[in-house]
Amino acid sequence: MQRTLSTDVLVVGGGTAGFGAAYAAASRGARVRLIEGTSKIGGVMAFCPGMPWGGGFPIGRSIGGVFDTLTSRLCTAQPPLAEIRPSTLENFGAEVIYDHEAAVFAMFQMLEDAGVEVHLGTFAGAPVMDGARIAAVECYDRTGPLTIVAAMVIDCSGDGDISAKAGVPFALGDGHGNMMGVTLSFSMLNARWDAVFAHDDPYFTQEAERGIAEGRLHPDLAKLYLMRGFHRDTVFCNSVHIRGVDGTDPQQVARATQEGRRRCHQLARFLIDSVPGFEHARMSELGPTIGVRETRKLEAMHRILARDLAAAMKFADGIVCCDNPIDDVMRSDSAMTHEAIVAEGSYYTIPFRALVPRAVENLLFAGRLVCADPAAFASVRGMPQCMAMGEAVGIAATLAQAKGLAVQALDPAEIVAALAARGVRGIGGHALADHAPALGA
Ligand SMILES: Cc1cc2nc3c(=O)[nH]c(=O)nc-3n(C[C@H](O)[C@H](O)[C@H](O)COP(=O)(O)OP(=O)(O)OC[C@H]3O[C@@H](n4cnc5c(N)ncnc54)[C@H](O)[C@@H]3O)c2cc1C
Repeated sequence: MQRTLSTDVLVVGGGTAGFGAAYAAASRGARVRLIEGTSKIGGVMAFCPGMPWGGGFPIGRSIGGVFDTLTSRLCTAQPPLAEIRPSTLENFGAEVIYDHEAAVFAMFQMLEDAGVEVHLGTFAGAPVMDGARIAAVECYDRTGPLTIVAAMVIDCSGDGDISAKAGVPFALGDGHGNMMGVTLSFSMLNARWDAVFAHDDPYFTQEAERGIAEGRLHPDLAKLYLMRGFHRDTVFCNSVHIRGVDGTDPQQVARATQEGRRRCHQLARFLIDSVPGFEHARMSELGPTIGVRETRKLEAMHRILARDLAAAMKFADGIVCCDNPIDDVMRSDSAMTHEAIVAEGSYYTIPFRALVPRAVENLLFAGRLVCADPAAFASVRGMPQCMAMGEAVGIAATLAQAKGLAVQALDPAEIVAALAARGVRGIGGHALADHAPALGA
C-alpha cells in the first residue's frame, strides 16, 4: 500500500547534524519529520559509542547553541552524565566526554519535546523533482514505500545520496576519490586508569611498535589512540582504522566492519595480555558498524578553503566558531595528523553559504557533506560544528518556508541573528572571547 505523509521540513539523517537541524526547525514551530535509516539516532556518534564531542570550545569558550544546551543538560544531571576535559591530542582544545546511552536518550528526548516526528528504520531513497524544487522524497520502511511531501528538505545523511540524486554536484573525498580511513571503535571495561595512563603518550607508540613487530597487531595500528572513557576504569579505543573504503558502497562497509572486528578483537587481546592496567579488562561497546569520516562533499554557493581558515576568517555569514586542527586520518597512503590550522588563541567561522546548493531551491544540507576543500574539511567536521551547521539550516529552512523564498535568496544576516538569539556565540560581528565566558570561569 502506498502511503503519503506531509511535513514542512524533512530532515534526512539523524546524526549530529540532523539532530541539530530537526531540533532547531521544530523549536521554531515547523512541522518536522526526521528520517533515520538505522535504529538509533546519533549517526557516527552511535556507530562509535563514546567518541568525544571535540571542537565545542574554540579558545576555551563554548560555541553555544544546541551543542551547549545538550552538553549543559548532561553535565548538570545528577549524577553528571558528561564532563568537559582537555583533549589528550595535540592542537585539540577541550572536549565533552559523556555516557553514550544517556546522550542518545537526551537527544531523542529533546527532539520529542520539540515535537519532531522521528522515523527510525526508514530509508530515504530518491527525491521527486518538480523543476528546481524537491516536491517529495520517496522513502521505505519495513511496511513498504512511503512518500513524504515536504516544503523544505534538509540533507544530513553524511553521504548526500538525496542531494546527489537531486542533481547537486559533488566531490568524493579529496576529489581524486581518496577518502579518510574508516574506524571501528570499542571500549575496555575494568581497566586500571592509574596503570594504563602512567605515561604521557596518548598513542601508546612503544606498545604499538612492539605489537606490530611481534605480528600481533595490524601494521596500521602504529598509533593506538586510547583515552579515558566517561566512566572510571573505562578506556575508549579509537584505534582501528581501515584504509581505502568507500562509505557509500554498502558491501565495502560490510566487509570493512568485519575486518575492523577482527582487528579490534586482536587489539583487545593484545591490551589484556601485554599492556599494564588491562589485565582484568574486557571488551565492550564494539561499534555496530564502521564510522565513516568522509564521502561526498556537496557543491554549494561557497567552498570553504583551508587558506581562509588559516587566516582565521570570520565570515559575515559565519554560523559557528571552530579552531580544530586538520584532523586527517589516513587519506590514501598518508598517516594520521593533527596539524594546527589557526594560530594559537585564534579561530575561524564556518560560512552559511557552504550549506546552500547553487540550484535546488528548497534543499539545504549540513554536517560532514559540507562544501569544503580536503584540508578545510579535516578541520570543520567535529560533532559540535555538525550540530551547529544543522541548527543553522534548521532555522534557514523555516525562514525560507515562511517567506516563500528559494534558499539561495535568503538573507544570511537574518539566519546569523536568529542563531545569536539562540545563544550561538562568536558570530554576527561578536568576538568569541567577549561573548562567552572562559571554561572554568
Ligand atoms: C571514526 C571517527 C572518529 C571521529 N572522531 C571525532 C571526535 O573525536 N570528535 C568529534 O567531534 N568528531 C569526530 N569525528 C567526526 C564526526 O563524528 C562526524 O563528522 C560527524 O558525526 C558527522 O555527523 P553527520 O550528522 O554529518 O553525519 P553522520 O553522523 O554520518 O550521520 C548521518 C546519518 O544519516 C543516516 N542516513 C544516511 N543516509 C540515509 C538515508 N538515505 N535515509 C535515512 N538515513 C540516512 C545515517 O544512518 C546516519 O545516522 C569522527 C568521525 C569518525 C568517523
